[in-house]
Amino acid sequence: MARKLVIIGSGPAGYTAALYAARADLAPLMYAGLQPGGQLTITTDVENYPGFPDGIMGPEMMELFRKQAERFGTEIDIGRITDVDFSKRPFVLTDGKGETVEAEAVIVSTGATARLLGVPGEDHLMGYGVSACATCDGAFFRDVHVGVVGGGDSAMEEADFLTKFASKVSILHRREDFRASKIMLKRAEDNPKIEFVTNVVVDEMVAQDDKRKLKGAKVRNTVSGEESFMELDGLFVAIGHSPNTEIFKGKLDMFDTGYLKVTEFTKTSVEGVFAAGDVADSKYRQAITAAGTGCMAALDAERFLAGH
Ligand code: NAP
Repeated sequence: MARKLVIIGSGPAGYTAALYAARADLAPLMYAGLQPGGQLTITTDVENYPGFPDGIMGPEMMELFRKQAERFGTEIDIGRITDVDFSKRPFVLTDGKGETVEAEAVIVSTGATARLLGVPGEDHLMGYGVSACATCDGAFFRDVHVGVVGGGDSAMEEADFLTKFASKVSILHRREDFRASKIMLKRAEDNPKIEFVTNVVVDEMVAQDDKRKLKGAKVRNTVSGEESFMELDGLFVAIGHSPNTEIFKGKLDMFDTGYLKVTEFTKTSVEGVFAAGDVADSKYRQAITAAGTGCMAALDAERFLAGH
C-alpha cells in the first residue's frame, strides 16, 4: 500500500517536515540519505538558531531534531533514494538496494553539497592535504600553514576553526570584497593567526615530488595576472554549495544552477511533490529557514492529501 508521505533527506528541513507530518497523523517515512542530519553534522557551533542562547553543536542539534520527529511516529530509513517516478500517482521511489516504495505525496529536502574548484590536482589530493570540510579534517593540520579558498561565511568559519590547530591560516579570495557577514568577517580579521590574501585564484594544487601529499598551490593574481607558488600543508575549499537534485533532472523543474523551482511557497512543478530547505533555496540557506520551509512543506502536503 502506498505511504501517505515520503520525505527524501534529513537535514533541518526534512526533520521539521517529518515532525509536523507525524503530528498530523501522516505516518511519514523518511529516507535519511548518506549523511543523516545533513550539512549541520559537519559544522561545529551553531550560534544563530533561536532557542539556544549559548549555541549548540551542529550534530547535537540534528540529533535533537531527529528525536523530536521520531517521538511522533516518523519512520526513518537509513537508505538513499536513487530514482523517482513522478509521472503518475502514487509516485514510485526506488532506493539504493533497488527496492521501491509508493507515496501519495513527497517532500524533497535533499539539501546541498560543498562545491569544489575543479582545478588540476584537486581530485588527486582530496584527503591528502586538500579538504572541503575543516570540521572533519582540521585536527590533522596541527602547527602547520593551511589555506582556505573562499570569501563567504563558510570560509570565515572554516578559517577560524582551523586556527585551533594550524599555526597560520591564509584566506585566499578572488576579489577584495567579501560576501561573508560582518560579524564573521570581523572575527576572522581579529584572529592573529589569520592572513587575508585577496585578488587571488588557485589554478592548480600541486603534490610533493615523492609522495601523494599537498605541497602547495599555483596561484594567480586576478588584477596583475602574476602567477606564483604558495607552499601550503593543507588547503580547504569553502566556496559554497550545489543542490542535490541529480535524481530529479527532467522530473521536476529546476534553474540552471540545479536549485528546484517552487511556486506558492513549497510546490514543485509536480502536484503532490513539495520542496523544502537548501534544495530550493540558493539565497538564505540557513538552518532556521530550512526548518521553516520544512514546516511549510508538511502543512502543504497535509492540505494536498486532505483534498485528494
Ligand atoms: P557563499 O556565500 O556562496 O560564498 C562562496 C564564496 O566562495 C564567495 O566568496 C565566492 O566568491 C567564492 N567562490 C565561489 N566559487 C568560487 C570559485 N570557483 N573560485 C574561487 N572562489 C569562489 O557560500 P558559503 O560561504 O558556503 O555560505 C552559504 C550560506 O550559508 C550563506 O547564506 C551563509 O551566510 C551561510 N552560512 C552561515 C554560517 C553561519 O552563520 N555560522 C556559516 C556558513 C555558512 P565571490 O564572492 O567572488 O562570488
